[in-house]
Amino acid sequence: MLIVRMIADQSGLETRLDAAMTALDEAGMPVAMAGMLEFCGDVLQLSFPHAELGPVRTILDAHFGTCDMLAADHLIELPRLLVSDMDSTMIGQECIDELADYAGIKDQVSAITERAMRGELDFGQALTERVGLLEGLGEDAIARCLAERIAPVQGARTLVATLKSRGCRAVLVTGGFHHFADAVGEQLGFDRVVGNRLAVAQEKLTGKLAGPISDATTKRATLADERGQLGEGARVLAMGDGANDIPMLQAADYGIAYCAKPKARDAANGRLESGDISAVLKLFDIPENEWVAR
Ligand SMILES: [Mg+2]
Repeated sequence: MLIVRMIADQSGLETRLDAAMTALDEAGMPVAMAGMLEFCGDVLQLSFPHAELGPVRTILDAHFGTCDMLAADHLIELPRLLVSDMDSTMIGQECIDELADYAGIKDQVSAITERAMRGELDFGQALTERVGLLEGLGEDAIARCLAERIAPVQGARTLVATLKSRGCRAVLVTGGFHHFADAVGEQLGFDRVVGNRLAVAQEKLTGKLAGPISDATTKRATLADERGQLGEGARVLAMGDGANDIPMLQAADYGIAYCAKPKARDAANGRLESGDISAVLKLFDIPENEWVAR
């Protein structure tokens, strides 16, 4: 079974749906049922008795464009656990790039970040190199950076608060730093934060990490650990944008790539392209009048 939900543009929807269903039929992947969700009427759900997401998505994209989407090989239920990346997912920035600006080396650092998030560089090496470049920067720059530069993406507070109101635990896992993530996690209502620690001596960054590195393996292990504490059959949602999120996105029942780099988007069974991250709530058919605004 394959269930696909997507937030499709309503104009000319029937015509495009007819054409898509014909193309899917011809490709040997007939749609068993198609209809709008009960509460979120702009979300189209398609069920396939037997089909693979990859080829289905190619045909749907040709007819509907790269719209917000979620797919699963089972009936889609509310998640009991959200595990999310922070930088460029829950917040609109890459903290290390913004912090590097306070050291006057943003261009140098952000070029490395971009390549690491695309999966072109080893994450650990890229992190060590960038943290090294920050050696000597005053720790007080972090508080200024947080206040002046860091902000949640649109809908982040609503997403977390609404999922939590439905009994979902929320965990923030970042390849970034506790200095930022603790504050962001508290602001957005996350129950737990996992990340890297910047070492500080005499109120300056030493250019080293304190403690073990938080990377792609940590993210996936955190998800597995948290899942183990839930009852049998509890569904898990993971969200992220970078190459280091891929193992976590693939380990979840619902892996949503948020405005993601191509590698992460291709690896996930869900995606958000529109920017407002609360659209996830529509894909889970939570009525908008029950969303919790924080
Ligand atoms: Mg990220």
